[in-house]
Formats: sequence, C-alpha cells, structure tokens
Amino acid sequence: MSSLKWMEQELASLDDASLKRSLRGSSAVPSSPGRLFRGTGPQNMHNRHNLLNLSGNDYLGLAQHPAMIEVMREVLLKEGVGAGASRLVTGNRLAYTELEEGISEWQSCEAALVFANGYMANTGVIRAVVGRDDVVFSDQLNHASIVDGILMSRAEMARYRHNDMEHLGALLHKHRDRKRKLIVTDAVFSMDGDQAPLKELILLKHEYGAMLMVDEAHSGGVYGRCGEGLCHALGVKDEVDIHMGTFSKAFGAYGAYVCGSRTLIDYLVNKARTLIYSTAMPPALLAGIAQALVLVQQEHWRRERLHTGIRAFRSSLQKSGFLLGIGDSPIVPIIIGDNETALRFSAALEDKGIAAVAIRPPTVPEGTARIRFSLSAAHTDKELRYAAVSIREVGLQLGVLG
Ligand SMILES: *Cc1c(COP(=O)(O)O)cnc(C)c1O
Repeated sequence: MSSLKWMEQELASLDDASLKRSLRGSSAVPSSPGRLFRGTGPQNMHNRHNLLNLSGNDYLGLAQHPAMIEVMREVLLKEGVGAGASRLVTGNRLAYTELEEGISEWQSCEAALVFANGYMANTGVIRAVVGRDDVVFSDQLNHASIVDGILMSRAEMARYRHNDMEHLGALLHKHRDRKRKLIVTDAVFSMDGDQAPLKELILLKHEYGAMLMVDEAHSGGVYGRCGEGLCHALGVKDEVDIHMGTFSKAFGAYGAYVCGSRTLIDYLVNKARTLIYSTAMPPALLAGIAQALVLVQQEHWRRERLHTGIRAFRSSLQKSGFLLGIGDSPIVPIIIGDNETALRFSAALEDKGIAAVAIRPPTVPEGTARIRFSLSAAHTDKELRYAAVSIREVGLQLGVLG
C-alpha cells in the first residue's frame, strides 16, 4: 500500500496549487444538443442541473442528429457491437472502404485512412514518418497528441515559439542537413482558437525541403465550403503532405482521418502502429461517421449558424472589456491568469446555469489559466446572449473586468 504514498503527496500538492483535476459526471439532455446534465455530488444523477454547454466540441450540433442515431442503430442490430480484430486481420469491414472513399472525395485527395481517434492518428502517423535521425519542428502550442507522437518517434523535437515564423526559419536553417524534416502544426489551436499561418509554413517547407503535417481537429467541418477545413478554405491543401482531422468534434462522433497521396496512405497501412496493433472500430460507429460526413457537406446552415453565433458572442464579450484570443473560430478563451480565480469563474458560471470549464496548466502555459468557451450551431441566439450577460456579471463580480 505505502508504495503508492508518493501519489497521495503529489495529488495533495496539485490540490494546493488549484491544479487538481477530477472526473465529473454529465449526460446529454435528450434531443437538446448544446445542453447537458451535470451533477454536483457522487450521486449526481439524482441532483443534476440542466446546463448550457459552452465547453463542448460538438461545433455543428451533430452529436444527437436523428439520422446518425438511426443509421447506427440499424448497423448495430445487423452487425453487432465490436469488429473483433484489427483491420489487417479480419476487422476491415466494407464500411471502412466506403468511408475512406467518401473522405477522399470530400477532401479531393488521392486516398484517406481512418484511425480510432485523433490521439492515435497523430501518434501513429508521426511515429511512422520520422525516427531517430530526424527532426520535427513543432509549434509550442500544438496538441499533446502531437507532442507524444514526436516523443514516441525518438526524433529530435525542435519547438518553435507559437506561430513565430522567424523562429521556425532559424531552427530549419540550423537543422538543414538533417535527413528527414517534418513541420507539424494545429490548423486552429485548441486552447487559444487562433490559426496557424499556413501560407508562410508552406513557403518554409519548400525552402528547406521539409514535410508539412496539419491537424484540423478544430477546423474540419467548421471552415471551407463543405467543411473541408482551413487548408481548403485558404486554397493550400495541395501543398500539405499529411492532412489530419477528427470525427470527434464538428462531426459529433468519434474517430479520425488522415488524407494525402496514395503513397502516404499505403505507407501508413504498413507502418502506423496505432492502426496495425489496435482493434478496428465498431461497425456502427463507422456508419455513424459516414452519415455525419454527408451532413457536414450538405447542411450548410449549420456552419452559417455557427459562424453567426461566433461573431455575436465574440463581439459582446469584447464590448464588455474582455481580452479575447484573435480569430474567428468557435474557441473563445478569456485569459484569467490565476488558477484559483479561473476555478471560481467557472463555478460562478455554473451557478448561472452555464458549463464552462477552467483550463489550467499544464494544458496551457503557467500564468494563463483561462475559461475556454466553445460554441456550437446548436446554441440559440437567446442562449448566447444570456451567456454573454452572465459572463460579464461574473467578470465584474470577481474583479476580472475593471
Ligand atoms: C481533440 C484533438 C485531438 C485528439 O482527437 P481525439 O479524436 O479527441 O482523440 C488531436 N489534435 C487536436 C488539435 C485536438 O484538438
């Protein structure tokens, strides 16, 4: 027993610094996307509140879409729950091929590959394409799954200051003689909501003969005429070697895709360990994702609704005097600084019926604890107006607003 004593001490010191985390139960409010039930105690299902969910990533409000639920139910009844084996063994259901063809068409790329989730896509891909003799240039604010992929690959990690192309250029120059070079970036950064300078990254990639990988977890479904993502919206997708996105955010489901050339995909089928050594996805989930892919491309009103909401919400917070991150993404952080104040801010919002979590180090740099709001097409104008007023009240009450 006492061999785990050190854990107790570590947890206590996290608690002292207002950095301890715990899992809180919540559940969906039936047919009310954008809202959730959250409990306050261990028996939270008996003591639950219906909250406006301003901390979800269901950007298009698809997570409870009836067409997705229906198709998943049908496939579940026909094919059962689990795939039973990895894709290279007997788990590669026809639904995978159909889905990957659909993704290639949507992205206008040669080929696509589905992974179980974004974390596994990033770790699997990065570990497959670089190794001990190589170097990966990674934005300082890239998602943890990218960082872990680099660590697993044993390549050298050259971190550049957030979106700082001069710094990246200097690092590329320093490592110009290395064998393989990979530049990797989030398209939209998860905790700040700002965008990577993709056009500048492409210039540098060409100048130094590096590969470029872009993670569209927060931009897939959100940008581009049919939700193809930021690379498409900026007209640069053909210059991106490895294009990755997830089905867990705007698609309202679970899973991830990688797309690019036929060669890239053939290579990953042979080398990506998170694909090779893990069980294939449940067939019903593949069917749900395929349905989401149709909805993302057809229901343009969801993207329009989302962007209208984002503009209104951002502008009212700005008018209240909050300092917001730049950009027009559904991620709207207000930086608080201090961990304890961020927690109090979040608790005060919950008292007003709003779920908005405090994000603290190590997820964000020390001294930049924040409330990270994320918007959805499922939120109504009225709900967003109520949220903006409540956030202002809490800001004044806690002295965050002057
Ligand atoms: C959420 C996220 C991931 C992980 O995707 P999951 O499907 O949730 O595992 C990867 N990259 C970024 C930038 C993300 O925001």
